Amino acid sequence: MLVDYPDIFTNLNEITNHPTIINTMSDHYERVKIELQQMKAVESEAAADKEQLSPASVTTVPAEVSFAARRDLSRSSINGRSRSKSRSKADGHERQVNGKQLSDLTPQKSDYSQEKGQSRLSNEQNIKGTLRLLKGKTAANSHVESCQREKDLKCEHHGKEDGSKVAKKRRAVTVDTSKAKTSLEALKMSIRQLKWKEFPMGRRTACDIYWHGVSFHDNENIVSGQVNKFPGMIEMLRKINLSRAVRTMQELFPEEYNFYPRSWILPEEYQLFSTQIRLLKDNDSTLKPTFIVKPDSGSQGDGIYLIRDPADLRVISGSQIKQAVVQEYIQKPLLIDKLKFDIRLYVLVRSLEPLEIYIAKEGLSRFCTEPYQEPSQKNLSHVFMHLTNYSLNVHSGNFVHSDSCSTGSKRTFSSVLYRIASKGVDIKKVWSDIIALVIKTVIALVPELKVYYQADIPPGKPGPTCFQILGFDILLMKNLKPVLLEVNANPSMRIEHEQEVSPGVYEYVPSPVDEEVKVGVIRDTLRLMDPAQRKHVTSNTEGGSPEDAIVVETGSDEKESLTDSLPSLCLKQVFPKYTKQFNYLRVVERIAAIFLRFLGVKGTMRLGPTGFRTFIRNCKLSNSSFSMASVDILYIDITRRWAGMLPDSREAGMSLQAFIEAFFYMAARRFKAVLLREQVLLLLEVCEGALEGQSHSHSHSEKPRPQRSHPTQSSAPNAFSSPALTRRHHLRHQPLQLSAKANTEN
Ligand code: ADP
Repeated sequence: MLVDYPDIFTNLNEITNHPTIINTMSDHYERVKIELQQMKAVESEAAADKEQLSPASVTTVPAEVSFAARRDLSRSSINGRSRSKSRSKADGHERQVNGKQLSDLTPQKSDYSQEKGQSRLSNEQNIKGTLRLLKGKTAANSHVESCQREKDLKCEHHGKEDGSKVAKKRRAVTVDTSKAKTSLEALKMSIRQLKWKEFPMGRRTACDIYWHGVSFHDNENIVSGQVNKFPGMIEMLRKINLSRAVRTMQELFPEEYNFYPRSWILPEEYQLFSTQIRLLKDNDSTLKPTFIVKPDSGSQGDGIYLIRDPADLRVISGSQIKQAVVQEYIQKPLLIDKLKFDIRLYVLVRSLEPLEIYIAKEGLSRFCTEPYQEPSQKNLSHVFMHLTNYSLNVHSGNFVHSDSCSTGSKRTFSSVLYRIASKGVDIKKVWSDIIALVIKTVIALVPELKVYYQADIPPGKPGPTCFQILGFDILLMKNLKPVLLEVNANPSMRIEHEQEVSPGVYEYVPSPVDEEVKVGVIRDTLRLMDPAQRKHVTSNTEGGSPEDAIVVETGSDEKESLTDSLPSLCLKQVFPKYTKQFNYLRVVERIAAIFLRFLGVKGTMRLGPTGFRTFIRNCKLSNSSFSMASVDILYIDITRRWAGMLPDSREAGMSLQAFIEAFFYMAARRFKAVLLREQVLLLLEVCEGALEGQSHSHSHSEKPRPQRSHPTQSSAPNAFSSPALTRRHHLRHQPLQLSAKANTEN
């Protein structure tokens, strides 16, 4: 994999610098234009006109989706909730474009604007196409084009039209891009390279792929095909929920999950945070930790600030208590040219069941614009020194728009790796640590994602399948250990940036670095989701033992199964490839499977008291020392506590997180093993064994028994005073030295 990089850069330099190649490419694009027109002629124009939705017909509900519409109506409370909670965590430019600036883009007549059926929207998005073709040529794109050039030459030689032949052989994959928003430009380029068929205004009949800009719910009533968003991903990746999911894993596997800085959730852990920091400072007066406060609903660095003392927290906003995560600040990041930088890596979750994860071999490095100094009271407010967000640093006078991939304020990750490799760093080790971080993070997210998935797309009902590109933000510490900062559900896929071309005059210009990385990611995601690609991508599930190192390979095992005229995939499969190394971590997923079983398929995400009792009975967890009355008390206490922590949730009942808490509590109460994870594994065996026995004797659809004693709040003593729960609470807040130690190690 890594040895690919020199080739990429050699190609890039050759292609972009060589005048004859530039001319040839212009010629080539003329030929591609003609070829596209010929392909269009082959397709039935009448059919195309019928298929494209006119703006007026976009809202029409197609006849064949009426069932799903009914289903959605019947679950409107859940969908309504999900939608109302949905928030774009789009970084970079996503927000700008959702609003005014999309329409500000100057419509340019691109090489492709003559395509029949192309929408007004797509014309608006074709920005300075020719300029980009010449300036922003990427290695991968250049490769596609040079392959095409070779093909064209062959065709000319044989007097044939290769493009129309391809179109006749196989029905082009159809992509609905009507909701693509800011990823539209890169998406259009990808679809053109693949010779697939775009429906910029939507389509009356189903498309193979739906590309959404924000959430799963952007297009309603999709009953087939594939959608590029998972239900619930936006919610799961909010700062608080991500912290909770990782923290649950930290309780079970503290060593494995020490890549996430120590975090406290505000306002609920304000007291705990204050007390712990006071104790820490009392114990060692030389310690001067710094903390970063991140509003839960923020993105692009909005509302983030650094503090050195809990008293400096700005917890209250108006009369409302602000939800936020306060996190240990990594004080010794790796610096290049004295600047702090972070890494944006693109990760494709191709499927949840079975779990399939791909990582893009190329990413972006975003640099600060003020030389870094360790935090001091004086520099705490220097955002250009401490925050790497593009959206902030672009406003600094020092920001350098990159003309090449290895200079400026936004560079390719591979160029950074080159720099550090030249200093003798083992970059394969860095990569394998990053791969492990990504897999472990996705494993932490999967259980709850499955609950969202089942609520929106219950098994056995018609619905699409989902995949999603995520943006992982990673910081390298001085000791090269990668640290997870956050995961974006809607990473910016824009391939142009705003630039002041003359004083006060801003224009969108192509960004070669963004194009280099993002077009490859989108195109290769599409290739992997190609419905015709029946042959499953090779996966090496025969990997080594969990102790084996991750081997950073150089080849592309996916190559042969995909279209041969395209470059090898920039997305590398890491799961199930490394199943054996990471499968032991998937403990919470097993708890979620039990939760889902008792939840049923009614589109709900919360377990009622009857469902919880049925779970206890069916798993035979109640006995003389754990009566059904205690079960009811446990249910009420935990559910009430979580309702307080999730104030915006409209659904009553026990969430998965609350169920996990109850499960951990019961495991600790029942088994005397030393480690929580051992206790949990033992309880899982008990539950799974009992349920398996029942599956053999009767079907899954057993009805919950009528509730005999309905638990009431007034009758419930506080179960949190019990030793086991206090212990878990303690466990949850224990390893303060973990990241503080990491901070001093580097
Ligand atoms: P946002 O969604 O607003 O971009 P992030 O969590 O990505 O929020 O934080 C913004 C920036 O702050 C990051 O890009 C990084 O430069 C810096 N940062 C975030 N968390 C930490 C941390 N724990 N230690 C050091 N720097 C951090």
